[in-house]
Amino acid sequence: AKQDGRNILRYFEPEMDAKMQARRTLEIELRSAVQNEEFELHYQPVLDLSTNEIVSLEALVRWNHPTRGRIPPDAFIPIAEETGLICSLGEWVLRQACMEAVTWDAQIGVAVNVAPIQLRNRAFISTVMDALNQSGLNAHRLELEITERSLISNADLTLGLLHQLRDLGVRIAMDDFGTGYSSISYLRQFPFDKIKIDRSFVSGGDTSGDSGALVKMIAALGTCLGAKTTAEGVETNDEMRSVREAGCSEIQGYLLSRPLTASDVQALLRSQKES
Ligand code: C2E
Ligand code: CA
Ligand code: CA
Ligand code: CA
Repeated sequence: AKQDGRNILRYFEPEMDAKMQARRTLEIELRSAVQNEEFELHYQPVLDLSTNEIVSLEALVRWNHPTRGRIPPDAFIPIAEETGLICSLGEWVLRQACMEAVTWDAQIGVAVNVAPIQLRNRAFISTVMDALNQSGLNAHRLELEITERSLISNADLTLGLLHQLRDLGVRIAMDDFGTGYSSISYLRQFPFDKIKIDRSFVSGGDTSGDSGALVKMIAALGTCLGAKTTAEGVETNDEMRSVREAGCSEIQGYLLSRPLTASDVQALLRSQKES
């Protein structure tokens, strides 16, 4: 039956409809979720390999849906980006992360993910200043994670914004490094403090393989540019050993810890202080 064009339509149309419908429902629910603040931040620790201490935590948003339970970001961030809802959601994430981080030890930083469309908003710089002022968080403790996608459109505007942010004392990290295009030219052009090496290069943990060579190259690139390098998604001791040997400055991943609730973060930081 699938050879028949009309049948293909008849088979697949209802399926497409259902997908579109589910998307539309999600969009409507997302809109009210932003209003009702159905979100929560979890935090994943980042370990400095030279001191063996937690130096920062990355804020990762979770949606506590009233009937469907916890929805992971990959299931709603893309729709939030397409619909523009990411701007109000992202602002909530930024404020919440600053308010929670200010209660931690003063040496610990917080990293916040920023979607490309947020950077194109001219009010973004004042949103960041407001979040810092209202929480009382020192700007040096805030790190913004951006992806290469942010740099492709309107590079001049973004370059100006990144310099303004750095003048405030905020640090800038390039997220998911290696998954986009023209990464090296962007790194030279934009003022990054940190390169986060995507998990796809870290998995496997074999420094003799291609990925291992790439991690070494990226770590060396970081050194040249005066930027730190964080290996993401480190799950095993072998992977930790190999990214350490490759010259990475920090690790993040399930080996160290999964993303934690705000109260688990408090407990973890207390135990680090005591030990
Ligand atoms: P990301 O920024 O690359 O965040 C890292 C993701 O990898 C997180 O997934 C984290 O839980 C996961 N991860 C960490 N360690 C490991 C590991 O050892 N193994 C494996 N398999 N995974 C690991 P999560 O929390 O589901 O977030 C997924 C993506 O959603 C993030 O990727 C980020 O792109 C986006 N996202 C999350 N929160 C926000 C936010 O507040 N704003 C924006 N714009 N995007 C966000
Ligand atoms: Ca990130
Ligand atoms: Ca990442
Ligand atoms: Ca990622």
